[in-house]
Amino acid sequence: MRFASLGSGSKGNATVVEADGTRVLIDCGFSRAEAEKRLARFSLTPADLDAVLVTHEHSDHIAGVARLSRHYDLPVWMTAGTEAMHKGGELAQLRRINSHRAFRIGKLQVQPFPVPHDAREPCQFVFSDGRRRLGLLTDVGSITAHMLQALDQLDAFILECNHDPAMLQAGPYPPQLKQRVGGAYGHLSNQQAASLLKRIRTDRLQHLIAAHISEKNNRAELALACLADAVGESRFGILAADQPSGMPWIDLD
Ligand SMILES: [Zn+2]
Ligand SMILES: [Zn+2]
Repeated sequence: MRFASLGSGSKGNATVVEADGTRVLIDCGFSRAEAEKRLARFSLTPADLDAVLVTHEHSDHIAGVARLSRHYDLPVWMTAGTEAMHKGGELAQLRRINSHRAFRIGKLQVQPFPVPHDAREPCQFVFSDGRRRLGLLTDVGSITAHMLQALDQLDAFILECNHDPAMLQAGPYPPQLKQRVGGAYGHLSNQQAASLLKRIRTDRLQHLIAAHISEKNNRAELALACLADAVGESRFGILAADQPSGMPWIDLD
């Protein structure tokens, strides 16, 4: 199994996950043209995808999904709540996610789980090829017991480190937005991400990626320092996925 990010942050998110010839895109917060351009960096086109999975209806995750689906006849997986809120027009093929029920796309097993975030029915995912487990968790306001259970014993983890609380407070956002971002249905701070890591078993973890890092309210160094402090830096590499270029392929051996 391997995975890469096309870009991560409040201006657009998309992640590619691949296992034994099955390839899926998780979220597409970029226009179709931009998604094509970013996929081309990995020598891929949307026609190489087997499906698109959507975590929730916020535009930084869904903006390009419908157009991509129609143009390339791609099946799109989303919860009923996300479907109700999505405004991008018709999808070529719709597949419904029950966020408590695992499903399979080709060689990839997908375990969705519900998360607290200010969307209608948001979910996040754990992917497995039967050997390795990759967790994806962004756009989460608080940590739940259910989430901790789903994310236990991962081999790789893409984890939201949205903001540094002090930078958010001192930053340019209006008070209401600061409250939303820092609230129970907003986004994880660096410190919340670190505390989550301390509450799951990480002895199998090979790769840890800080994601959805705010360009205004955080710095990658702060996020990485927080994560390193939580898991012990020397064991494995910790990377940051950024907005302009995401993150290159990471192979799970
Ligand atoms: Zn987002
Ligand atoms: Zn969101």
